[in-house]
Amino acid sequence: MFKVIITYFYKINTIKMKNALLTFFTLLTLTTFGQASVDLTADSNSKTTNPKLIVGIVVDQMRYDYLTRFYSRFGEGGFKRLMSEGFNCQNNQFNYIPTYTAPGHASIFTGTTPATHGIIGNNWYDKESNEDVYCVNDSIYKTVGASDKSGQMSPHRLSVNTVTDQLRLHTQFRSKTIGIAIKDRGAILPAGHTANAAFWFDGDEEGKWITSTFYMEKLPDWVVKFNQSGNTESYMKPWNTLYDIKTYTESGSDDNTYEGLFKGETKPVFPHDLPKLRKNNRNFEILKSTAFGNSITTDFAIAAIKGEQLGKGNETDFLTLSFSSTDYVGHMFGVNSVEVEDTYLRLDLDIAKILSSLDAEVGKGNYTVFLTADHGAVDVPAYLKDHKIPAGYFDSSAFKKYLNEFSVQKFDGNQLIKDVSNKQVFLDEKLIDEKGYDLDDAEEGFAQAILNFPKIAEVYTATAMRNTDFSKGAASLLQNGYNQKRSGNILYTLKSGVISYTKTGSTHGSGYDYDTHVPLLFYGWGIRQGSTVQKTEITNIAPTIAALLGLEMPDGTTGVPLEFVLDRIN
Ligand SMILES: [Zn+2]
Repeated sequence: MFKVIITYFYKINTIKMKNALLTFFTLLTLTTFGQASVDLTADSNSKTTNPKLIVGIVVDQMRYDYLTRFYSRFGEGGFKRLMSEGFNCQNNQFNYIPTYTAPGHASIFTGTTPATHGIIGNNWYDKESNEDVYCVNDSIYKTVGASDKSGQMSPHRLSVNTVTDQLRLHTQFRSKTIGIAIKDRGAILPAGHTANAAFWFDGDEEGKWITSTFYMEKLPDWVVKFNQSGNTESYMKPWNTLYDIKTYTESGSDDNTYEGLFKGETKPVFPHDLPKLRKNNRNFEILKSTAFGNSITTDFAIAAIKGEQLGKGNETDFLTLSFSSTDYVGHMFGVNSVEVEDTYLRLDLDIAKILSSLDAEVGKGNYTVFLTADHGAVDVPAYLKDHKIPAGYFDSSAFKKYLNEFSVQKFDGNQLIKDVSNKQVFLDEKLIDEKGYDLDDAEEGFAQAILNFPKIAEVYTATAMRNTDFSKGAASLLQNGYNQKRSGNILYTLKSGVISYTKTGSTHGSGYDYDTHVPLLFYGWGIRQGSTVQKTEITNIAPTIAALLGLEMPDGTTGVPLEFVLDRIN
């Protein structure tokens, strides 16, 4: 009978039934078999109380309304499967400024904001070294898998740990955590400090997946094989629409003045002839700005699931997967382009492919997926203006000139501006001190001047950020993005729809809904079916996954677990 019970156990499909039966058989075996049954219970428990694999998907630059705008065109196996079978947080918001890629990825996986995790931009002016730094650049490490510098990276500027780190700590490092993205920062920050690996795509002349000596000395065999497989080259084909272009009714016309061009193109229209264009567009680099970049990422992720045997061990593994090409396409062609629509229809199929692969490799019901984005994007301001919606372009060079002139005029010929970046002004505090000015007064003076400049919405000083507890509006978002060690002396926002960018394509970074409202879907093991329009925040994701797995929250967590998405809590 003992054997019969075990056999029966593993044939039960649904987890809920498994749990009910577990309790029943535990009682039965405890009375029938005494001590021997305890081992059985413990063993069965370890197999059912945690998912085999967590897959954390970030879609770079995905607005929430892409789920609804393209809904009728999605298939059943991708976004719709996550939405209908999982839990859909329909009003999920970023709770800080600036809404850029690196802060976004860091916040999703640390459960906190730039104020705490320290990733205040993709690049920022470093006050200590007086130079511009890139969020994950780390020259003490070498590239693994290519001969250029694209692999000299690590998460060393991320000041706290991630939910992926907590998983590794919790399981004595038996869990495997792997980060994958075309962008280095999209792979490195989610995977955390203790990751087994992070892989990213080296474009230009390489066209290969690489890593850093921070993780390993040489690429695993499955990565070498993948790089030699001709996968990347197979996508170097004309990018045409997936379906008849006449069916793309959820976008503007294909030929318009709001879209950017690949070098060598005269019109921003399909088909984009990649074999012809690659030469003048940095060869493999062009794939990043097409829907194919996501397909390459998908193929590589599936190879990773198999190659790393993810979800096959005794502990929960964690795969972080970021689709970067949605961002490149959005920046180039804009929110309302046919290119964006086509990219999402193809991404839908890519996600379906990953879910099918997880069903086959890990087993349906044995894994948990969440899908979100690192920020949204604004419609092309020129397009908004043409439709009477307030929008426009901010003149950054005129602004810098204005600030420099103000400084010289107001401060006895002294140039007190050190840097202007990420909508922050960095003052020369040493010079201010030397010249005997009061720092607070200087900050206030510049703040007043900035407020008078066209298209500026709000201005705050660092002193205000440190001394006031803002609870709403842009000030509160800025405060969550304000890091005492790294941020500048004056922070400002632009008016709604105003960007500092080229006249074609979309961008992001603000605290307005178009940049802050992004999807949040949970699906699979331990997740309830349902949806909510209650506001959730990006910093809730990591604590929710921590609660699901019974982990300690990441060190700097400021969000709280979303209890209503969890079917059970460890
Ligand atoms: Zn991004």
